[in-house]
Amino acid sequence: MTAGTGDIEKAAGVLRAGGLVAMPTETVYGLAANVEDTAAVARVFQVKGRPPSHPLIVHVAGAERLGDWVADVPDTARLLAERFWPGPLTLVLRRGPRVPLAATGGLETVAVRVPDHPVALALLSAFGGAVAAPSANRFGSVSPTAADHVRAELGDAVDFVLDGGPCQVGVESTIVGVTSGTPTILRPGGVTREELEAALGRPVAVGSASGVRVPGQHPSHYAPRARVVLVEPGDVLAEARSAQEQGHRVGVILPPALADAPVKAHAVVTVPPSTAAYARGLYGFLRELDQSGCDLVIASLPAEEGLGLAIANRLRRAAGPRPTA
Ligand code: AMP
Ligand code: MG
Repeated sequence: MTAGTGDIEKAAGVLRAGGLVAMPTETVYGLAANVEDTAAVARVFQVKGRPPSHPLIVHVAGAERLGDWVADVPDTARLLAERFWPGPLTLVLRRGPRVPLAATGGLETVAVRVPDHPVALALLSAFGGAVAAPSANRFGSVSPTAADHVRAELGDAVDFVLDGGPCQVGVESTIVGVTSGTPTILRPGGVTREELEAALGRPVAVGSASGVRVPGQHPSHYAPRARVVLVEPGDVLAEARSAQEQGHRVGVILPPALADAPVKAHAVVTVPPSTAAYARGLYGFLRELDQSGCDLVIASLPAEEGLGLAIANRLRRAAGPRPTA
């Protein structure tokens, strides 16, 4: 059930008292703490099991609040904020003094965005400050796109879960570095490269800026329990059959073109025809395949244009090498 006014007030009180609130956004659910409370921020890292050197995104109620949290607002940042906020775009700017180094992983830059979700915006307004909010999941695992995902994964480690329904974008924000003259996409996400280029009237490079630590860039991230193997779209059926015959419980993420093909697998999800629906469903699909007991997921990459760039990025990370425990 979606959070009401009483829930918002209660959640704002939890933030003021130094607690953690799971907050719905249009991208994924965030694990929110008062950014100015270093003890609360430290708890976010602890609950997620996230290394403290990996910076958090600071969420604010509106573009007009940006100046409270950053040292300066270059023209490019202002243009992007006006065009895309509230929305799935995060701007990396020079840190203002109110943002503790604990939230930025020791960096002199800070990542800021305005989420496009009525519950998140109501919470930020009622709270009055800014919240540091990474995705509300354990470090490296699949991001939550529904309140139940948060409850199942973090349980009592979160002081209050605000239910805002299923996330409408479904993948994280696009992170753009704007501290230098040339804006660069540090992580693809819900705002597409094409939209950024149209807004700026010039090409935008994709790539992690050297020296900047971006958790989304870890070898394995956004990963289900099952091992993820990426193959060419034309090889999905054959690979699934062969792995299933070898005794794996195979989950298949089936490209839309193969929707009616007979599949030999333990569980199958068919990719929706639009990339927006695919992005919205992606993390839910990975959770579903885990829950149905698959130990291997076979998938292929979508065309890397529009939202396909973010989807392919997440699938590559999900398939990345796992830490050997
Ligand atoms: P998550 O918390 O998992 O949703 O990820 C937050 C993302 O924001 C990560 O990819 C962070 O690295 C990125 N981020 C936060 N602050 C900065 C920063 N100052 N510079 C570059 N990336 C940042
Ligand atoms: Mg995350």
